[in-house]
Amino acid sequence: MKKDTKIVTAGRKSQWTNGVVNPSVVRASTVVFNSVKEMNNALVNTHNGTMIYGRRGTTTAFAFCDAMTELEGGAGCALYPSGTAAITNAILSFVKSGDHILMVDSVYEPTRDYCDKILTNFGIETTYYDPLIGAGIDALIKENTKIVFLESPGSITMEVQDVPAIAEVAHQKGCIVMLDNTWGAGINFNPFDFGVDISIQAATKYIVGHSDVMLGTATAIQEYWPQLRDNSYLMGQCTSPDDIYLALRGVRTIGVRLKQHQQSAMKVANWLAERKEVSTILHPAFESCPGHEFFKRDFTGSNGLFSFVLNCGNKAAINALLDGMEHFKMGYSWGGFESLILAINNIGSIRTVTQWPHKHALIRLHIGLEDVDDLIADLEQGFERFNQVLAG
Ligand SMILES: *Cc1c(COP(=O)(O)O)cnc(C)c1O
Repeated sequence: MKKDTKIVTAGRKSQWTNGVVNPSVVRASTVVFNSVKEMNNALVNTHNGTMIYGRRGTTTAFAFCDAMTELEGGAGCALYPSGTAAITNAILSFVKSGDHILMVDSVYEPTRDYCDKILTNFGIETTYYDPLIGAGIDALIKENTKIVFLESPGSITMEVQDVPAIAEVAHQKGCIVMLDNTWGAGINFNPFDFGVDISIQAATKYIVGHSDVMLGTATAIQEYWPQLRDNSYLMGQCTSPDDIYLALRGVRTIGVRLKQHQQSAMKVANWLAERKEVSTILHPAFESCPGHEFFKRDFTGSNGLFSFVLNCGNKAAINALLDGMEHFKMGYSWGGFESLILAINNIGSIRTVTQWPHKHALIRLHIGLEDVDDLIADLEQGFERFNQVLAG
């Protein structure tokens, strides 16, 4: 079955949908049983779609978990109240005191902070590595290295990692390979085909797709699924069926949404590449993006999120650019239907083992579903304000 067909059918077995197209929103804390036998049977069938207690999820969650497993692959999917909770709980489900983690230097900042501010308290040590290290990760793997964590591409600086090369070495040394697959969204990158063991997503972004729900997912191969599922459950992770319903609705249109995000983002990036104010396009589909060759080899497409680096400017000029935008709003998220813009001056300060080679600010864009010519006109006017300030 092709991906676009899976997007429509995934998770829709009649056990969940009960004769209509979508599964119902089943809200529950208590699940009631009519006999001792029924109650005992439910306990035996804990992982086979029998409802036991609200925290373990209702049929709404079971349908979404099935859908994510069909889209990404793997043996099962655990749900979390945010992408960050998915990352922290997936890691904590597999480490103990004295263990060591290898973490990509371009990682989402809260993931870094979790390692540095929380895992350190439990005697779990993190070493950061160059996103482009590839098979060279071998030299960093220690006796006690438990997890090699990747994020590809990095969600601000966009380095694409050689996932299969890293995974091969990590597996030789008995490490678990975890990937933050939020950019690939389970659509443009199939993590389990490239050696990933656990694929994590901020479903908050493209899966939900409408900027109105926080949600995280982690799908795992059979070898790690029971431990991920059971430990996440023990840590009390559960999510609202209303939010899950919205995520399932998001799944049904993610294929067409991503194609449009991709098409518009490519047009904007090509336009930016010709601007005199721009030094580098950091879009995985561009040769100027570190790891572009791995994008070409491993991904089936891109989306609306990319960055570019300015080749001039100062704070006042960048502020003038940002403050007057009509369609690009400033915000920390991405993956919704709307366009977003963010300027970051100090990438160097969120790196510890790699040198950030650029002198001027980075601008990250999320290209939404507006008409792309309106978006380009908005950016053009932004550069006019930028240049006016620079001209003094
Ligand atoms: C947003 C994001 C997260 C965190 O997701 P939340 O739902 O905001 O907690 C993790 N990784 C990446 C790459 C993200 O963009």
